[in-house]
Amino acid sequence: MDAKSACAISILASGSAANCAVVRLTGSRKYLLIDAGLSPRATRTRMIELGLDPAAIGAVLFTHFDRDHIHRGWIRELAARPIPVLVRAGLEARARAAEIPGRLLRTVARTSRLGNIATLRAWETPHDWDGSTAWRIDTPSGSIGFATDLGHVTDEVIEGFRGVDVLAIEANYDQEMQVRSSRPEYLKERIMGGKGHLSNEQSIRAIAAISRDKVPSTVLLLHLSQECNCPELLTQQVRAELPTMHRRVRVVARNTTCGPIAIGTAESVSCSLLEESPFEVGDSPLFPPAPNTNPLAEPLTPSSCLIES
Ligand SMILES: [Zn+2]
Repeated sequence: MDAKSACAISILASGSAANCAVVRLTGSRKYLLIDAGLSPRATRTRMIELGLDPAAIGAVLFTHFDRDHIHRGWIRELAARPIPVLVRAGLEARARAAEIPGRLLRTVARTSRLGNIATLRAWETPHDWDGSTAWRIDTPSGSIGFATDLGHVTDEVIEGFRGVDVLAIEANYDQEMQVRSSRPEYLKERIMGGKGHLSNEQSIRAIAAISRDKVPSTVLLLHLSQECNCPELLTQQVRAELPTMHRRVRVVARNTTCGPIAIGTAESVSCSLLEESPFEVGDSPLFPPAPNTNPLAEPLTPSSCLIES
């Protein structure tokens, strides 16, 4: 297997304006989008800039459906291609309210198999009324934990993310900048009240807890507030509070891209996985039933992310 077919993640956009990441699964020629907050055109442009093929998007997995996570242009695009949409159980109504065509929707149970190339696990996380989603993607070559838009990190997410190779987690705001900002009090309360976003301190504590037994090879800090955070300040906090692993942490500033970042090792993967093509809408199931799992009811410049050194 060549390096191009190894599992990798790229961040196309992160922050309150737009969020979108791309995962290439081991042995697959298709990509999995995590959120689609950029317009289809901007998504294509940034993927090409990172050396990724926009025509190969095989599915879109959503954390939730706030405007910074789904661009209206994708509603038409998803239906036209057509591209399946993956959501955790409990978010189907929100997906339909966001005008995702029902025929494209696939509900991911707590643990679901994506063909034989990945296992997906989803946990509801506290965020406003409907919650967001923490996703864990396990592939034969490595694993990703991805969580943004959560007011606090639950114990099940800490436990669920242990052992991942790449941890992508939000560090939305600096507590002091938030408190001192000119934002209205109700907005500060919404953000800091446990069902909004993670502060830098909360994020760093979560990283330490998740990394207790195995330190991820890369940690990506995402969804930084423009008004109430500062990449340089966050980088300093990481350096001070995670002294043994700060070199593995990348702060993804707004309006930058990052990646592709390889996940695990391609060498350990069987080439037979190349035969599987689970990205289908229609008669072919996206998730074939697997033992002990619940079947479904139905890539700007890579160097622009701040790298701790
Ligand atoms: Zn968001």
